[in-house]
Amino acid sequence: MCGVELGGTKCECLVGTAPDDIRERITLKTESDAAATLRRIEGILQDWSAKHGTFSAIGLACFGPLELRPESANFGKIGMTPKEGWKNVDVAGFFANRFADAVGITTDVIAAALAEGRWGAGKGLADYAYVTVGTGVGVGLIAAGRPVFGWHHPEVGHIRIVRAPGDDWPGNCRLHGACVEGLASGPAIKARSGTPPANLPADSPVWDTVAHALAQLAHNLVLTLAPQRILIGGGVVSEQTHLFPRIREYLRLSLNDYVDIERAAGGLEEYIAPPGLGTLAGPLGALAVAADACSGESASHFMRTRP
Ligand code: ADP
Ligand code: ZN
Repeated sequence: MCGVELGGTKCECLVGTAPDDIRERITLKTESDAAATLRRIEGILQDWSAKHGTFSAIGLACFGPLELRPESANFGKIGMTPKEGWKNVDVAGFFANRFADAVGITTDVIAAALAEGRWGAGKGLADYAYVTVGTGVGVGLIAAGRPVFGWHHPEVGHIRIVRAPGDDWPGNCRLHGACVEGLASGPAIKARSGTPPANLPADSPVWDTVAHALAQLAHNLVLTLAPQRILIGGGVVSEQTHLFPRIREYLRLSLNDYVDIERAAGGLEEYIAPPGLGTLAGPLGALAVAADACSGESASHFMRTRP
């Protein structure tokens, strides 16, 4: 199977079947010239299919917004992304009917959530959330074993939240100001502190506002989806492990004993946890989508296979 994760900054292409069986892996930059980027991926897939034979499936995990309703004429196309050069690009169409018997497509965060469920820290769970905090804040929600999907994929990273007492920094989301993404994403932290988040010391008060925003996101997830676990990863959180105890404590204070997380998950440490697959959750997500496209899961509404 082949997986292609199209991210805002880089694309990852993989051949394999599972985390312990990755046979090929190439990373390339996501250029603002979408056609040129896709042609480079096409070249990689051509080489790999010559070497490994036609794939049983290709899984695509793509940044959004993405049209995923199978009945839409725009199925598999990127929508109104702020990413230059990628508006209305037909990602699924580009890969359809080539290299593989089936093509599956979903968003990068739904794909990562599926990978966590198949191989990582969501294994065995029917209801869980995968949160990534990086250039943006993305959330993949799984309920009753399936991605949550209404008329469009949810965009929970943009929900508005209660602010930390005394905090009136306006946030940097271009659409909502102080939504979760506008407070907790890497660019938000940089805009607020004047320092790239990687260089921001752990005792900076800005980290406390980030933890507060992520705890508010978790509060709302607990009370809507009632997940069995919330996994939080991405470039901002994965190296800043001091955030986890703070997020848990802010969540505990915010819920105010209304929900018995001890009973739901054995405790807050298990409940708010890093992804089991680490930074591989994204690329492995594409392989999980390919695996789903091969199986009966392909009938689900978030992807389509083309024989
Ligand atoms: P993307 O969201 O583009 O897929 P990542 O999940 O890798 O990518 O997140 C990128 C963000 O992570 C950038 O905003 C970057 O500033 C931030 N980042 C990178 N390294 C660190 C670090 N060590 N600590 C905190 N933030 C970091
Ligand atoms: Zn927003």
